[in-house]
Amino acid sequence: MSATTVAADPAVCAPLPVLGRDVTVPLVTGGEVTYAALDYAASAPALQRVWDDVAAYAPYYGSVHRGAGYLSQLSTDLFENARKTVAEFLGCREGDQVVFTRSTTDSLNLLAAALPADCQVFVFETEHHASLLPWRDARVTYLDAPRTHDEAVHTLERALADRDPSPSSQLRSSRGGPTGPALVCVTGASNVTGELWPVRELAAAAHAHGARIVLDAAQLAPHHPVDVRELDVDWIAFSGHKLYAPFGSGVLAGRADWLQGAEPYLAGGGASRKVARRADGGVDVEWHDTAARHEAGSPNVIGAYSIASACKALDEAGFDALVARERQLIGTVRAGLAAVPQVRVLSLFGDDAPRVGVISFVVDGWNSSHFAAALSAEYGIGVRDGLFCAHPLVRTLLGGESDEPGECGAPEAAPGERSLNAIRVSFGAGT
Ligand code: PLP
Repeated sequence: MSATTVAADPAVCAPLPVLGRDVTVPLVTGGEVTYAALDYAASAPALQRVWDDVAAYAPYYGSVHRGAGYLSQLSTDLFENARKTVAEFLGCREGDQVVFTRSTTDSLNLLAAALPADCQVFVFETEHHASLLPWRDARVTYLDAPRTHDEAVHTLERALADRDPSPSSQLRSSRGGPTGPALVCVTGASNVTGELWPVRELAAAAHAHGARIVLDAAQLAPHHPVDVRELDVDWIAFSGHKLYAPFGSGVLAGRADWLQGAEPYLAGGGASRKVARRADGGVDVEWHDTAARHEAGSPNVIGAYSIASACKALDEAGFDALVARERQLIGTVRAGLAAVPQVRVLSLFGDDAPRVGVISFVVDGWNSSHFAAALSAEYGIGVRDGLFCAHPLVRTLLGGESDEPGECGAPEAAPGERSLNAIRVSFGAGT
């Protein structure tokens, strides 16, 4: 992308109203300024529409699946309709299940707990820790960071073709040995560089080798349409709080068979259809074979409802307009950064790679933590600094410079030292 200024085109799309646009914050220099929220990749502001929908429902709030009263029935309907709305938003197939979870992290850990025996998992080292780490109890192959989309696909193809023999399978690898079930986990859009990954091509490679694929759509879903059928992925995971819907909810949607073949993620009420004492004094349980199997405990109805409200608002606004507006903003921000010689923007796939509104950079001579703190204290601009819960990726992008950081956080460096971590600016609907 060239370093020219991109003219704003008001015809592209009006920003979708979000909360917090008028919040003022104090500055160290005295006075106040309107806060500039540029940390959407961590948690996006709620859409005004989501807030209004939740406020309208709040007086009618009741327990889900648990009460005979009118408000309980209403809440149960809202919860189950939210499931349908999310299924439509994601273009789910007949038979797919939508499980409400707490977050993307929770969704991927749930899938990890539901892997069939002998499953081998393939994951690029560039993933966010939420999609890098949950598989550690399985047989995991960590793939090196690719530098092009083609390299990503070829790396995966090679790894799948060479996968370890399994005693229990009919499928055969290129080396002739039998292969068991396999899962590929890939992010749709990087939370560090904002770059899109070739999900459709990776899904085709996975399926050609008898593997399944789960898409971490935490950063993709707020910026792009995600369609299970179109991308041909087996599962999608995302978080409400990044999709302009707060209230602690997330989604795992996709194939029912592995989910229903597994023990419930949490054991408890709601997941069980029938529980009875046995003659020997123990307890027998029949678990549900619906999404409820993995939703034990009282469901987070407001969380599910707010996700459904965000899905509807995004569908109504239309992703074409959102994408066009965001492309314009990305151009403006990248052009501004390119005009500063001390700034280096981090990228895995290069300047021309398609991307969402997530941009990380380092500034020569600055510790990123101090830079980000100064943006907040002196200008009221809220960004993120650190390694963004993607330590291996940021280390690769910084050329191995970073070392021993706190979890998701920033390693220590004296003022003026070379940067050990990065600064991230991220935006989306409402910016
Ligand atoms: N995946 C990606 C790409 C992310 O950016 C994040 C959060 O930043 C997650 C997963 C985890 O999301 P959550 O913290 O909502 O579980």
